[in-house]
Amino acid sequence: MVEGRYTGTMCLSEPHAGSSLADLTTRAEPDGDAYRLFGNKMWISAGDHELTENIVHLVLARIPGGPPGVRGISLFVVPKHLADGERNDVVTAGLNHKMGYRGTVNALLNFGEGRHTPAAHRARSASWWASPTRGCGTCST
Ligand SMILES: Cc1cc2nc3c(=O)[nH]c(=O)nc-3n(C[C@H](O)[C@H](O)[C@H](O)COP(=O)(O)OP(=O)(O)OC[C@H]3O[C@@H](n4cnc5c(N)ncnc54)[C@H](O)[C@@H]3O)c2cc1C
Repeated sequence: MVEGRYTGTMCLSEPHAGSSLADLTTRAEPDGDAYRLFGNKMWISAGDHELTENIVHLVLARIPGGPPGVRGISLFVVPKHLADGERNDVVTAGLNHKMGYRGTVNALLNFGEGRHTPAAHRARSASWWASPTRGCGTCST
């Protein structure tokens, strides 16, 4: 990202929960030494494009057994392409067509549809799909 080869997004909003983060439902299931994410994120600025080699999504999600409300939200790093170049399991479900602020796309992203299944996961049952950010296991945002 420092070299400008990747861009990033911040995936907080969901179709049913914009301002109300306590209501977000995207979940992160432990899988091997990483997590698999399942859920939908709405209004994601620069959510998908081909201007850069990769897009790194920072995604808010809940892990099993976490406390309710905002204290149960964790942050995950979810690259569109994994380190070996393979597609991760995040897809663009649609674009939001805006009246203004048209310099960047705005997208609805689906996580965990299963359309892309990284080989590392298939071969070893170990997921590389999402990594929790250091020191943010179940912390509030
Ligand atoms: C151009 C654009 C780009 C965006 N980019 C991103 C992005 O990159 N990533 C991302 O995660 N999200 C993004 N968003 C979403 C944005 O950050 C907000 O979360 C979202 O627009 C607000 O959610 P909502 O539309 O469901 O409105 P709501 O949360 O339903 O709010 C509707 C209205 O109710 C009011 N309201 C809400 N809660 C309360 C309350 N408790 N008390 C009183 N009034 C209240 C609000 O002020 C607002 O007027 C983007 C939105 C836009 C328009």
